Amino acid sequence: MENEQELGSEGKLEKVEVENPELRLLEMQWHKVKSRLRAELGEATFNSWFKLLTVQGRARGRITLQVPTRFVRSWIEAHYLTRILDYWRIEDETIKRIDIDLQPEYVPQAAQTRVQTAPPSRLPSFTSRPAPAPQVARAPIKRPDMGAPLDPRFTFDNFIVGKSNELAHAAARRLAEDSGVNFNPLFLYGGVGLGKTHLMHAIAWEINNLRPDATILYLSAEKFMYQFVRALRFKDTMAFKQQFREVDVLMIDDIQFIAGKDSTQEEFFHTFNALIDHNRQVIISADRSPSDLQGIEERIRSRLGWGLVADIHPTDYELRLGILQAKADALMARGDHAAVPKGVLEFLAQRITNNVRELEGALNRVVAYSSFVGCAITLEVAQDVLRDLLRASERRVTIDEIQRRVAEYFNVRIGDMLSARRARTVARPRQIAMYLSKQLTTRSLPEIGRKFGGRDHTTVIHAVKKIDQLRGEDPALDEDVDLLRRMLEN
Ligand code: ADP
Ligand code: MG
Repeated sequence: MENEQELGSEGKLEKVEVENPELRLLEMQWHKVKSRLRAELGEATFNSWFKLLTVQGRARGRITLQVPTRFVRSWIEAHYLTRILDYWRIEDETIKRIDIDLQPEYVPQAAQTRVQTAPPSRLPSFTSRPAPAPQVARAPIKRPDMGAPLDPRFTFDNFIVGKSNELAHAAARRLAEDSGVNFNPLFLYGGVGLGKTHLMHAIAWEINNLRPDATILYLSAEKFMYQFVRALRFKDTMAFKQQFREVDVLMIDDIQFIAGKDSTQEEFFHTFNALIDHNRQVIISADRSPSDLQGIEERIRSRLGWGLVADIHPTDYELRLGILQAKADALMARGDHAAVPKGVLEFLAQRITNNVRELEGALNRVVAYSSFVGCAITLEVAQDVLRDLLRASERRVTIDEIQRRVAEYFNVRIGDMLSARRARTVARPRQIAMYLSKQLTTRSLPEIGRKFGGRDHTTVIHAVKKIDQLRGEDPALDEDVDLLRRMLEN
């Protein structure tokens, strides 16, 4: 009702209607209709669809209800409209029709004019507010023309921290919050899709929040190259240099792209040195560490490593699950779909391990499919929609490979691991290998049993249970399994 009051204060009708006895009667009827719906559909379904539905009014035998999002409206219209009408007619048989309207979105005047790109950070939760809350307005970032636009979703608020990105995140935050230059440059590196660009944009948004006067230039190394080559061609290199050297914060993303491009490297190096000498902040990202940047001159490589070098490791299961949860919540808050069951998120976190971009893509595909087709989001739907992706990721790990890695890790012979020996030193690795085979491949239990010296599928079931249990009790074993899984997945 928050919204109503806010709108009401601008002189709209809502305030008046609350006093209206007719509306009170409607509210009572609606209450009864809802009780019947809840009894029929169960609490979970009811909450997904009807909790935010409000009654607006009645005219000539028509009841008008209101919902916050288009998605919820079309779902209710497709699935529950006649139900609602039937139940309403029990209360009042003169009702002939139910209409569902969209709640007008509440956007304050000031924000409307100022926001250029409203970041969907701090999305309201689906249940606590009827309509998406107004976004905090972000002033446009002061940046020279040649910079690339910043993604409004890439904020610290939307960045989920786990073991693998803890250092990079802490460094990025520190840098953004501290006005002094602590480490220069900050060099972020890690594989594709692990959040480097996200962190850089987050730094830019945050600095912009705290120090709106700072000039921030963010661009990819490719764009840097392109600008430079253009400047050369049009004999405009002075202006080019000038633009760069005037910034307070320079961020160059994916620096590996200038490898092998000698003149660009040279120019970059001069710019880089000039900025650092003037105590301006430089932030660089790459897909590998400074020392691994082949095709980049040694003196540049070593200078890149002078500040703080922070690497982002591949994600672990918990982080992936956390990210999925956050994305699912955000989608839901936007009203794009109902809740994604935990089991589906777990499945995705388990199976889509390559990088976060792929993970997000997978979630989006499942959600889009289910809302398009109009089916619930289930494990079966997810498996079906992502068949190609899952197959591609499966191909990477085979049972042989798992056996080889596990044997190597525990320093036992594969032959012993597959033999009938029951000594703990080989039995435990064997169970771990079975467990990983079940988790990382789609082989059936009998198939796995066969691959392990012709064992029965019940042995595999037992191994999986045992390791599951031990992982909860024995942190060292848990770490072994985690490490092995990470090694196998990469
Ligand atoms: P990179 O630049 O390292 O290739 P990006 O920063 O473009 O990767 O990230 C790819 C996608 O994954 C983006 O949509 C980003 O928001 C998302 N992402 C990556 N890491 C995280 C994280 N820790 N929390 C939330 N989203 C993340
Ligand atoms: Mg990137």
